[in-house]
Amino acid sequence: MSKRKSLHTAVAHDEHDQRHYGAVTVPVYANTLFTFENYEEMDRDEPGIKYSYSRGDNPTVNALEQRLAELEGGAKARCFASGMGAISAAVLSLVRTGEHIVCVDQAYGPAREFMGRYLERFGIATTFVDGTELGAIEDAVRENTSLLYLESPTSLFFQLQDVQACAALARKRGLRTVIDNTWATPCFQQPLALGIDLVVHSLTKYIGGHSDALGGVVIGSAELVDAVSGSEHALLGAVMQPQAAATLLRGLRTLPLRMERHQASAGIIARHLESLRCVDRVHYPGLTSHPQHELAQRQLSGFSSVLSFEAGTDIARLKRFADGLRLFRIGFSWGGYESLVSIQTGRRTPASEPVPVARLYVGLEDPEDLVRDLDAALRQAGFDLGGGT
Ligand SMILES: *Cc1c(COP(=O)(O)O)cnc(C)c1O
Repeated sequence: MSKRKSLHTAVAHDEHDQRHYGAVTVPVYANTLFTFENYEEMDRDEPGIKYSYSRGDNPTVNALEQRLAELEGGAKARCFASGMGAISAAVLSLVRTGEHIVCVDQAYGPAREFMGRYLERFGIATTFVDGTELGAIEDAVRENTSLLYLESPTSLFFQLQDVQACAALARKRGLRTVIDNTWATPCFQQPLALGIDLVVHSLTKYIGGHSDALGGVVIGSAELVDAVSGSEHALLGAVMQPQAAATLLRGLRTLPLRMERHQASAGIIARHLESLRCVDRVHYPGLTSHPQHELAQRQLSGFSSVLSFEAGTDIARLKRFADGLRLFRIGFSWGGYESLVSIQTGRRTPASEPVPVARLYVGLEDPEDLVRDLDAALRQAGFDLGGGT
């Protein structure tokens, strides 16, 4: 409770900053470079950041970084042009040729492909494991494993890893840990406090919140984030634009407020779907029927609004359902004001058969309108809702 309250204040309150003439919003420093009066000024040793070129540090981007570090409880943060920019930088900073990664099987597709396929050419191997089984993670650790990569919950079946237990295991075996915290946001999950080394986010989703800016961030200790800044950020150059930083800062102002609404609406929709005869399973950690609900309650302080459900095995029928929706629009991504649907196939475990799944992102619309939209589209696609409806 008190944590939630402090989040609302943390996003709304800025220190009065003399450098910006008391401006109430952080100005967009669109400039690529900073010039100096003379060489004495350029060579002078001063405490804090010396701005010289915006691919390195930029005041607007730095303001977002400070705010994100504070929200996650990290010492430092580094922003990137996209979530994948942040993920690839975090992973690259922690692995060397000849080493090995253990990654949860259900991790975000492009992240999985980066570790599984792309890094192979540099002599880095990755083993994908069922993240719900701590034993499976432990069994996959080899002599040369240097990184455990987590994403909890995952974003198709919403499976959790026991983050604290994973962090403890990693520490015992001398591995570094990275977690993708995009689904939960810093409002609902604080992985650094659970012992994780680096947290990554796609800022493109809930944090931006309006589907109008791409961004990513790496957050952690000063030592690890400085290492990322000095190598992957500076050398690969996937840096955030100041304009994007200003847009993302604006989105961040309402993050805790939006997350409360998302959580309430998603709960209504998840429980409604579960009550329908045609729905086989709803995948949402906030439901008591979720197989890891107890862990979810312990590890998360709230539940966001991306969820999925299974209803038969006929993917064409699920696509007709998606076509019939009026308020949910067909599209990937999430985190904006607008509700979305995507029909995907996935395996619940590495060994199981792929099944069709409807993934929903519950936006900021009235949840009762969204329920009516779902019911009408299901009925129109020939699904049996039961209950005399
Ligand atoms: C979207 C997403 C990413 C990638 O972020 P981009 O900003 O699109 O590069 C990573 N992880 C998760 C869970 C995502 O949903």
